[in-house]
Amino acid sequence: MTKYVYDFSEGNKDMKSLLGGKGANLAEMTNMGLPVPHGFTITTEACLAYLQKGTFAAGQMDEVEDHLVMLEAAMDKRLGDPSDPLLVSVRSGAKFSMPGMMDTVLNLGLNEESLKGLAQQSRDDLRFARDAYRRFIQMFGKIVMDVPGDAFEHALDEAKARKGPNAQDNDLDEEDLSALIREFLSIYERHTGSEFPTDPREQLSLAIEAVFKSWNGKRARDYRRQNKISDDLGTAVNVVAMVFGNRGEDSGTGVGFTRDPSNGEKRPYGDYLQNAQGEDVVAGIRNTLPLAKLEDLDRTSYGQLLEVMSTLEGHYRDMCDIEFTIEKGKLWILQTRVGKRTAFAEWVMAFDMLGEGLIDEDTALLRVDPNRLEELFKRRVKADGAEPVARGLNASPGAAVGKVVFTADDAETRAKGGDKVVLVRRETTPDDYHGMIASQGILTSAGGTNSHAAVVARGEGIPAVCGADAVKIDAAAHAFTANGTTVNEGDVITIDGFTGNVFVGELPLEDSLLEKARAGDAAARGERIWQAFERLMAVADARRRLRVRANADTPEQSANARARGAEGIGLCRTEHMFLGEERVGAVRQMIFADDEAEEQRAYDALLPLQREDLVGIFRAMDGLPVTVRLLDPPLHEFLPDLTMLSVEVALGKERGQDVTEQEQALRKVRELHEANPMLGLRGVRLGIVKPGLYAMQVRAICEAAARVKKKGGDPKVEIMIPLVATKPELEQMRAELEPVAEEVLSGEGVDLEHLEWGTMIELPRAAVTAAEIAEAAEFFSFGTNDLTQTAFGFSRDDIGKFVGMYEERKLVPANPFVTVDRPGVGRLMRIAVEEGKAANAELHLGICGEHGGDPASVTFCHEIGLDYVSCSPFRVETARLSAGQAAVGSAESAST
Ligand code: PEP
Ligand code: MG
Repeated sequence: MTKYVYDFSEGNKDMKSLLGGKGANLAEMTNMGLPVPHGFTITTEACLAYLQKGTFAAGQMDEVEDHLVMLEAAMDKRLGDPSDPLLVSVRSGAKFSMPGMMDTVLNLGLNEESLKGLAQQSRDDLRFARDAYRRFIQMFGKIVMDVPGDAFEHALDEAKARKGPNAQDNDLDEEDLSALIREFLSIYERHTGSEFPTDPREQLSLAIEAVFKSWNGKRARDYRRQNKISDDLGTAVNVVAMVFGNRGEDSGTGVGFTRDPSNGEKRPYGDYLQNAQGEDVVAGIRNTLPLAKLEDLDRTSYGQLLEVMSTLEGHYRDMCDIEFTIEKGKLWILQTRVGKRTAFAEWVMAFDMLGEGLIDEDTALLRVDPNRLEELFKRRVKADGAEPVARGLNASPGAAVGKVVFTADDAETRAKGGDKVVLVRRETTPDDYHGMIASQGILTSAGGTNSHAAVVARGEGIPAVCGADAVKIDAAAHAFTANGTTVNEGDVITIDGFTGNVFVGELPLEDSLLEKARAGDAAARGERIWQAFERLMAVADARRRLRVRANADTPEQSANARARGAEGIGLCRTEHMFLGEERVGAVRQMIFADDEAEEQRAYDALLPLQREDLVGIFRAMDGLPVTVRLLDPPLHEFLPDLTMLSVEVALGKERGQDVTEQEQALRKVRELHEANPMLGLRGVRLGIVKPGLYAMQVRAICEAAARVKKKGGDPKVEIMIPLVATKPELEQMRAELEPVAEEVLSGEGVDLEHLEWGTMIELPRAAVTAAEIAEAAEFFSFGTNDLTQTAFGFSRDDIGKFVGMYEERKLVPANPFVTVDRPGVGRLMRIAVEEGKAANAELHLGICGEHGGDPASVTFCHEIGLDYVSCSPFRVETARLSAGQAAVGSAESAST
């Protein structure tokens, strides 16, 4: 029979799939002898069984009952006991941390009777017991029975208002709480149509069910989609004996990180809230104290906490975050996990831990996430003495400029309409998630660095400033004021997630430390982040087997790519050399030519321009291979738009103007017009119908290489023919073009040691006939943009309209234009690699589609044995890192 319930003493940290992250780590800490309250975990399998059938799995609740009895024995208290009740929390906990996305119920087991027992056991502290009960009704009502949270909040606000203008929760006395409980119970009855359940076992069963269901709640689903977490995992449920942080000034609750999650510094970091329960910290409702202040309040507990932190970090060999509660001077650890961190901190910590000998080089390499590397190059606010209108906590780094919006829905709508927005809220709740991810930045007026807003923003790489308490939001007026300045909805503000400053208007942004260091700035090079970057990239470079090239079309792009570590150019798209007024003129002359002589004159005009571009590129990439692709796009792309031209001719005629030239152009545009140009006269087909064109290009390439070589350079040339579907296409092209190359080079008296001819594999037919094509090629480069387009039959220019829906409905595992579709496109690639290599052992292989810079696709390219990936220059480091990780093994991000 399946076992659905595990005591904390029965699990360990490696059982996350079954017990969820929280349950597995509670078990681990229990077994390490740390002060964890007793409890048990109901497995993710039980959740999945429930979600499938709509009822608890057979035997599950019997097991819960057995474990509850064990828990009662361990605590020497009974659930609902009127004289000394056991209270429990019921907490969600999936395999991957989903902060605040699912539900938790605290203080379960209370009713009118047990409330008295709780008070008695607390030195007759009736106020404490009533406060616990009102919290329980509120949470149970909202979470388990869907009573609108506002109804309770409103009643609570009114109760505080009756006490005085600035009254806090803690100012409510026994009598106030008694009245509030009555009001909460009637709110509950009004909204649910039933009485509040007094039987603790019924409460428990309903709460477990609610946590299971919260796996499929909207915010949990949104979070999973954004973070690429599978919907099939389910959540575990932890039932834990309650400890109380709200039992007076010698109690409290907090969150601690063993290192600073925002900049990676090695010092304990976190928040503490005296006389409060855990949700008060996470919800950001009250402003917290920095963790270090706990030392002044309770030196013994603080000392113990630091000891636990250091034990945990040594045990997990990573930064841990910890939720703890102090109940009347006794420290309890309620949760730990490997802590989320900024991309910046991720690098600094991995580097430091490597230096400390806590982890080895491979582990350090796997700790940094290539998907977040670009974040490190993010710009900062250049304040230049500008006065901030408010200051808050630097909750998530980066700079954001955008129009102010006050609700998550507005953020989402405006962002969809193309606006850049900054979401301004008092605090955010998990329900705001969709608006947060649509925003450039997030500003909250309340809450600490571990509030929901901060945790989510850091995870998503969105700059955030939290707890800027000078910001007073007036929701009705759609405005906020800060230190006398009014900012209306739609006004632009700048927030600095590195310093916590908030500015009115748009401030200039400046380059990141890494960007500056790369440019040679000595101060930036002295920073830890640069040292971390250099060290770990060196490890990646040492480990990787894949080479990394760049897609670059100009000398500037080539130089930039080389500075980022590119080892050549995998794709130089020559069409970009045909743009610009002067060049387009010559291209049009070529298209319009009535005879060969005129066409040749056009080539003669184009050749030197193309040659000069290539000289610059070969120089920038001296000694490294450069793959030059012959012209790919259909010729009509160089002509005016058909509709515009038709209108121009019609209007000109009506006005009696001379439109002979335009009419000639229109005739040609009509002649070249294609119903489906992506599948039309492009690539090698163009080379076949316009032989002079490719010959001119080959001449330009060889002349450029000869010039560079004569000046002492070392050009390594690879000529690539696009969109080949059959071996004869490639054979015939080579037969026409190789003599041109030979003629130029012998004329120049230059011998190129590295001159190769190859093709792109970007059509399914080419992939499945790779064995034949490989006999005529020295290299293959996978054009996965076109290969994805043609394998799926998705137009790469139009898919934007529906790919989002495809992802949402799981019709594709991910956007196939971003990550290689392994079963389809990937299979075609694998066939081409295997069969191509078998036919030509010398064949070398690369990829130059956009996928070459996507970490998951780089891993795939490593697996199928490509020689290199080629990507846009700004993703070269990402590709180097991914290739290093792929070589080391499974690349699991430290932050999941
Ligand atoms: C490709 O198709 O993947 C490719 C690199 O070529 P282009 O994007 O220029 O069609
Ligand atoms: Mg292509």
